[in-house]
Amino acid sequence: MIVVAIANQKGGVGKTTSAINIGTALAATGQRVLLIDFDPQGNASTGLGIGHAQRERSSYDVLMGEASVVEAAIPTKVPRLDIVAATVDLSGAEIELVEFEARTHRLDTALAAVKDQWDIVLIDCPPSLGLLTINAMVAADALFVPLQCEFFALEGLSQLLSTVERIRTRFNPGLSIIGVALTMYDRRNRLTEQVSADVRAVLGKVVFETVIPRNVRLSEAPSHGLPALIYDHRCSGSEAYMALAREMIGRLPQAAKTAVAA
Ligand code: ADP
Ligand code: MG
Repeated sequence: MIVVAIANQKGGVGKTTSAINIGTALAATGQRVLLIDFDPQGNASTGLGIGHAQRERSSYDVLMGEASVVEAAIPTKVPRLDIVAATVDLSGAEIELVEFEARTHRLDTALAAVKDQWDIVLIDCPPSLGLLTINAMVAADALFVPLQCEFFALEGLSQLLSTVERIRTRFNPGLSIIGVALTMYDRRNRLTEQVSADVRAVLGKVVFETVIPRNVRLSEAPSHGLPALIYDHRCSGSEAYMALAREMIGRLPQAAKTAVAA
């Protein structure tokens, strides 16, 4: 089982859209996927059509040790894709956790109890570098970073990378970066081109070749409770996510080496 955290402390960069659609694309290729909604806003849960009544057990309960991952996981409409949903309770978790011992390892411990039920676990992180994201990074084998092609993209990234460095030193030396994905890419916009060239010059091969275009179908799909890949599998956004998932699978063996050996 490989655990990939989807993180960037900026909001609105495409974390949740990537989590839903890469999860769906991976499931379509035969992988058994678990998506953990780790954002109190619960957008991944809503976007996959999980109503509030279905969220009896949530990522909050898992974090608090009140439910196991297996107990909290619920199937989605997508075959082979399960989700641990999020509720607003999670917004209080960062403060509540301060009282706990090993507060950075709660999710890691919960996932360690899972046997071979899923091939890939994706964690949709909240837009901060607080205790929730730290729990995700401690539990993860690899990090997936969506990056919106805008002027301050790289500035936010250096803060993220220094957090990764701290997590490696203190808690999780095996944490790798599986890739940085350029999202909301607009070929007609010169700034997009410029930022993307800069990001590739600075970060090199860690940046995925596949870019995710700005595509209205990607933003419409969640209101129908469906991944774009099912809502409209032929739109440019769906095709791009399918290609990105394939590129990600190609990188998995290296990223997972330490995890598999452990
Ligand atoms: P995050 O989880 O990082 O906050 P989201 O995935 O929720 O970001 O995306 C923020 C908003 O932008 C959402 O309304 C989403 O539907 C929209 N969006 C995300 N990616 C794209 C895209 N490639 N094209 C168009 N809209 C997008
Ligand atoms: Mg989100």
